[in-house]
Amino acid sequence: MGRAGRGSERAAVDRKPCAGCGRTFDRRPSMAANWDEVRWCSDACRRRGVRPVDRALEVAIGALLDDRPRDATICPSEAARQVDPDRWRDLMEPARRAARRMVAAGTLEIVQDGRVVDPSRAKGPIRLRRPRSVG
Ligand SMILES: [Zn+2]
Repeated sequence: MGRAGRGSERAAVDRKPCAGCGRTFDRRPSMAANWDEVRWCSDACRRRGVRPVDRALEVAIGALLDDRPRDATICPSEAARQVDPDRWRDLMEPARRAARRMVAAGTLEIVQDGRVVDPSRAKGPIRLRRPRSVG
């Protein structure tokens, strides 16, 4: 009923970013009944939740970028080192999750080779920057 040609609009309704890992996930039949309340893409993300260290990584990413010229980029490892200089390697994946959450919130872009990439798909080294306004 009136859905022909409106694929992208429909897709946006059936898809959302995970509150934990920041990856976009599609609505599954098991989620249909309470889709509006679904926040996590998986049991693993739900169990892990968003811990204080995860929020600290978001704050560190923002602070590092605020210290630099508007167009500068940072590596997620810089935020990880700021949060825990000794065990920063353990924070690399959490830092990437923090970055994806910030992309979902519209406060960050993830780039590879100078191009904005889909946070849900990016593999390998990434850089982070503030969103650039068009025009
Ligand atoms: Zn997730």
